[in-house]
Amino acid sequence: MTESNASIGKRKIKKIIVDRDLCIGAASCVAMAGGTFELDEENKAVVKLPAGDNDEKILLAAKSCPVFAITLEDEDGKRVYPEDEDTTGGEHL
Ligand code: SF4
Repeated sequence: MTESNASIGKRKIKKIIVDRDLCIGAASCVAMAGGTFELDEENKAVVKLPAGDNDEKILLAAKSCPVFAITLEDEDGKRVYPEDEDTTGGEHL
């Protein structure tokens, strides 16, 4: 069995989480997937329509976020982005 990152566009992104504490209002996500994300009056990203763009655009939006404030999960609750292997360390609650 081989893992295929190339097929990531076919995954069903079910849940989009924006960490408002991390968001700096860079608006990259809005530029990439304006059907899904918008900035609120505090200049923080919010999800206005979870299915507002296709998975590919939503993934690009998440990847474009400079502070990794966007987390994507599939319908099984598995993380689609960021991928687990790319941990920055020092992450504990
Ligand atoms: S790209 Fe990231 S920091 Fe910028 S508005 Fe979207 S969630 Fe916030």
